[in-house]
Amino acid sequence: MIDWSKLAFNYTKTNTMVCASYKEGKWGHVESRTCDDITISSLSASLHYGVECFEGLKAFNCKDGKIRIFRPDENAKRLIRSANYLGIASPSEEMFVEMVKQVVLENKEFIPPYETRASLYIRPTLIGIGPQLGVKPSDEVLFMIMVAPVGAYAGGIDAPVPAVISREYDRAAPKGSGSYKVGGNYAASLYAGIQAKKAGYPAVLYLDPKENKFIDEFSSSNFFGIKENTYITPDSSTVLPSITNKSLEQVAKDLGYKTERRPIPVEELSTFEEVGECGTAVVITPVARIDDKPSICGEECTKSYSYQAAGPISRKLYNHLTGIQYGEVEDTHGWCVVL
Ligand SMILES: *Cc1c(COP(=O)(O)O)cnc(C)c1O
Repeated sequence: MIDWSKLAFNYTKTNTMVCASYKEGKWGHVESRTCDDITISSLSASLHYGVECFEGLKAFNCKDGKIRIFRPDENAKRLIRSANYLGIASPSEEMFVEMVKQVVLENKEFIPPYETRASLYIRPTLIGIGPQLGVKPSDEVLFMIMVAPVGAYAGGIDAPVPAVISREYDRAAPKGSGSYKVGGNYAASLYAGIQAKKAGYPAVLYLDPKENKFIDEFSSSNFFGIKENTYITPDSSTVLPSITNKSLEQVAKDLGYKTERRPIPVEELSTFEEVGECGTAVVITPVARIDDKPSICGEECTKSYSYQAAGPISRKLYNHLTGIQYGEVEDTHGWCVVL
C-alpha cells in the first residue's frame, strides 16, 4: 500500500483514467481505462506544434468523511478558454465536471486520508491528435483526466524558498500565450528553471515581458505580496489567472483584509512584509528572499529582498483556504463539489 507520509509530487499508478475523443464534429463516449498508455498518430499536432492545454485541481478526504473537489467549474472554464486559443474543440463545463467526479470516484482509495493533509491531484489534459502535417489546429482532439495522490508539493507553508528574478528570459511574449494554460509556456520556462536550480533557487520570478519593470508571476504559480494588511497581486495580461490566487484574494476580503490587483513595480518588492507563491499544487509557498541578478547563474546580485518566512497573514489565508478544502471551515461561496 501507499506510504502516505512519503508522498511528493510524483506519478503513482492508480485504478483508472477517463477519456473521451472528439472526431467529425462531436464527442464520443466517456471511457474509463486501467492503462495510462495512449495510442495516437505520430503526426499529431500536439507532438509537433504544441497543440496542448491542461488543468490541475484537487480532491480531498474531509473531516466529515466526505470527498470535496475544489472549484472544478473554474478549471472547466479555463480549459475552454485555452482550447479556444489553440483553436480546438473542448468539453463543455458540465462534461468536464462530470468526468472529474467520475475519475475521483473510480480512484477513491487513492485519495489520502484526511489526517495526512495530502490530496488527490487531478490532471485534465486536452491534446490535438490525428495525422496532419500542416500547421493548423486539429480536427481531432483527445480529452483525458488522470489522477495521482500527492503530498505538499514544495514543502508547503512551512518550507519557505528563495527566488531569483529572471532578467535573461521571459516565459511569454507581451501579447502572447502567457495567460493560457498551454504546455508551450512550460517548455519556454524550463531552461530558466534548470539554471535557477543549479544556482540554488527553487523558484524563478518573471517580469512583464514588455518592459521588464513589473512583477508577473513565477514559472508555475502566481505572485502575491502583503503589506499594511493588504493582499496585493499583479494585474497583467501575461499572467495565468490562478484559481488559488483568486480564492485567496476572496478569503483575504472575507477575513477583513484589503485587496489590490494592480501592476507591481519591481522596486515595490522592498516594501512587502510577506511574499508568497500560490497555486493548486502548493496553495502557498512562502518566499523568504528574492534576489535580483543580471544573470541567474552569475555571482553578482544587484539587489536582495528579504521577507518574514511564512508570515502571520499568509498563514491565516492558508489555514482558511485549506480549511474550506478539508471541510473544516464553512464554504460560504459554494466552492467545493461534495461527493
Ligand atoms: C496553473 C498555473 C498557475 C496556478 O493556477 P491555479 O489555478 O491556482 O492552480 C499559476 N501560474 C501558471 C503559469 C500556471 O500554469
